[in-house]
This record gives sequence, C-alpha cells and structure tokens, in this order.
Amino acid sequence: MGKTKIILMNAQHPEKEKIREAAEIIKKGGLVAFPTETVYGLGGNALDEHAAEKIYAAKGRPQDNPLIVHIKAIGDLQDIVEDFPKEAGRLMEVFWPGPLTILFRKKPVIPAGTTAGLDTVAVRMPAHRIALELIEAAGVPIAAPSANLSGKPSPTCASDVYEDMNGRIDMILDGGPCPVGVESTVLDLSGPVPLILRPGGITKEELENILGPVEVDPGLLPGQKPRSPGQKYRHYAPHARMTVVEGSVEHQIEKIIELAKGMENLGKRVGIMATAQTRHRYPNTIVISVGDRNAPLTISSNLFAVLRKFDRMGVDEILAEGISKEGLGLAVMNRLYKAAGYNIIKV
Ligand code: AMP
Ligand code: MG
Repeated sequence: MGKTKIILMNAQHPEKEKIREAAEIIKKGGLVAFPTETVYGLGGNALDEHAAEKIYAAKGRPQDNPLIVHIKAIGDLQDIVEDFPKEAGRLMEVFWPGPLTILFRKKPVIPAGTTAGLDTVAVRMPAHRIALELIEAAGVPIAAPSANLSGKPSPTCASDVYEDMNGRIDMILDGGPCPVGVESTVLDLSGPVPLILRPGGITKEELENILGPVEVDPGLLPGQKPRSPGQKYRHYAPHARMTVVEGSVEHQIEKIIELAKGMENLGKRVGIMATAQTRHRYPNTIVISVGDRNAPLTISSNLFAVLRKFDRMGVDEILAEGISKEGLGLAVMNRLYKAAGYNIIKV
C-alpha cells in the first residue's frame, strides 16, 4: 500500500464530500482511521471478514482479540444482535451515543473474523459527529479497534495515528484531539451481576446509578487472568520501561525522587509523569504534568499523548504517579498498570 492520505476535517460540521470519500473506501473493503470521543479508531466494514483480516494485519493485533462494532443509531442494533436484556435498553438510552460498549449475542451477519470466533459481539454508538456520519455514509456498521500498532499507546490525535499507520491503511480523517482520551467501558450483562470487563469512559459509579451494584472483572488485578481477551496483553506500552508509584501523594513524590536518583546514577534518562499539583516538586528532571488530580478528565485526555511524548524524548525510564481510582480514575489506573506491565510500587 502507498502513503496514507490524511484529510483535515471539521469535527462539528464534517464536510459531506470528505465523509463520502472515506465511506467509499469502507464500502470497498478498505481501512479508514477516524476520531471518536475516546481514541482514534481503525475502521473497516464490520460485515466483511476480509476487512477484519486487514485490520488485524495493519495493527499486528493478536487473532484472538475481538473488535468492537460501531453503529450510528440504537435502532441498528437489531440487525446485528439476537436479543438484548432490558438493562441494556436503559443503558443505551442513557449513555449512547457515548463511551460504553455492551456485549450481545451476535447474529450470523457479523462474521467470526470480526469477533475472533466468539458468539458474542461488543457494540457501541460513538459520540462523535465524524464517526457517526462515516458509519451512516458507509451504510454498514464499522468494526474499529484503536488505531495504534498493537501494544502501543492508543492514538488521541491524527499525527499519532500517522506515526503508527502510515502505509498500512488507506486514509486518516483528522478531526483534532479526542476529548475523553481513554477507550470505552466494556460491559458484560450476561451474568447475575453486571461485570465491567474493561474500565473506560463511562464510570462504574455512573453505571451503578442505573443498574445498582456493578462488579469489575477481578481478572484485571495484577497477576490474574482477565475474561476479556484483549485485556490479557501488555498494552498501551511506551518503549521506555515504566513504573507506577501508588500511595499518599507525599510518599509518591519521595519515592519517585529516590527512584529517579538511582536510575540517573546508572546513566538512565528518566521522565516523570506528574500532575498539576506536584510537577514543581521534582528537581532537575524531565517532568510532564499529565493533568489535574481533581479533574480526572484532564488526565485521561492527555495520558496516551504523554506516554508517546516520553518516547519521542527518548527517555529510558518513566516514573508515573498514581491517582485515585474513583470515577474516570479507574480507567486511567488500568491503562497505567498495563502500560507499565504491572510494574507497580506501593508506598
Ligand atoms: P480495542 O478496540 O483495541 O480498544 O479493544 C477492544 C476491547 O473489547 C478488547 O479488550 C476486547 O477484548 C474487548 N472485546 C471486544 N469484543 C468482545 C467480546 N465479544 N467479548 C469480550 N470482550 C470483547
Ligand atoms: Mg486498543
């Protein structure tokens, strides 16, 4: 494949002509990266087994990690799933369009290639004009994992997609930065208690307001086996080695300064992922504030971009502060744990 075409888009009022050009590619079985409210997606026709194969190849994604199918309206769900529990109806009314993915029993129209052979399909309706209009114009649901090379931090702007996907896909629609910055919450309603398979943009607390008690897959804890295939891989990972330090803020700062000194004495280039509240506490080191501890959306929206920035700066070691796991913090900490390959120090 030749060079990948990047098209600059108006995110509020996507230009019809550009959407049509991208939709033609999808219809012909090609791949288009597009912005969503979570991260950039790498889209192909969800009904086309060959398109799914191309997605796996472009990302270097393991074959057993199923794709999320994106639809443009709740009414389109019935074409692709056998049935849905009544809680799903409530959730869709409240959270769609938005960063919530729900598992359903799939209809045969969704090929095994899209779901990695599973008889369930993960579906969501994204809250982004470009995504919705692209799905509409393509006339098919769009399967789209994050538009990064498998294992790397997800892309939250078009240049990060280009860095990973140039020459591997047909087109990138550049609609600016993604507002949420972490992927959707993946929810399984098939058991007695709703189960979060991957924490994401819709929080556990928000789900509990609608559903009552919700559990988080215990397999996501360090050393356990997660239920969702995609959660078992090291993910979101920068080239640098990464350590997450958790505990009270003062103890975190102390520990990170101590670790940084030790690493620098060994000749390592160290980057510290701090917060607005703590960035000035680290002397003589590369420090990036990922956001405000009291506003986790400022952190989630920056997280992956900061990991990629450290890589571009050529740091050998990243030392990251932990934050509270309340609200969006749960998704942020899940991504940090995985980016660090569960290399966690508690202080
Ligand atoms: P990505 O699209 O790369 O953000 O990842 C999609 C996530 O959804 C992965 O963690 C997958 O394992 C998960 N997922 C997609 N489909 C299913 C499914 N049918 N059952 C369980 N997890 C799924
Ligand atoms: Mg991904």
